[in-house]
Amino acid sequence: MIKINYLSLLDIAIGEATIGLSEGGIPIGAALFNKDGTLLGKGRNRRIQNDDPSLHGETDAFRNAGRQRSYSDIIMATTLAPCWYCSGLIRQFKIKTVVVCESLYNPILRYGVSLFQFVIPKRQILSLKKLQL
Ligand SMILES: [Zn+2]
Repeated sequence: MIKINYLSLLDIAIGEATIGLSEGGIPIGAALFNKDGTLLGKGRNRRIQNDDPSLHGETDAFRNAGRQRSYSDIIMATTLAPCWYCSGLIRQFKIKTVVVCESLYNPILRYGVSLFQFVIPKRQILSLKKLQL
């Protein structure tokens, strides 16, 4: 059995969120990994940068990962709990493991998705607060 360090997967997503913030965008990042932890693709929310409301961190990472034969063993890491749109993507492609920084409640829990939650690093909280000003 492969032992995955989920927190290290989240570091990639946090890195993308940090890049997004430096670009003047919304600091949300995501990444997709094989079941062994190999990075398939990463991305960030670029709604502001690209003036595209559909470009969420999760969808960007999903697109950058390219087409996969199956998504059931794919792990998604994201810095913010997936919205309805991204939860739909997770359900549509049957991704069964999602690692998040923040999620008090998420609708995908109803559908047998394993959700691993970690506390948001302090710098990320500061970034999100900065956005709300
Ligand atoms: Zn979303």
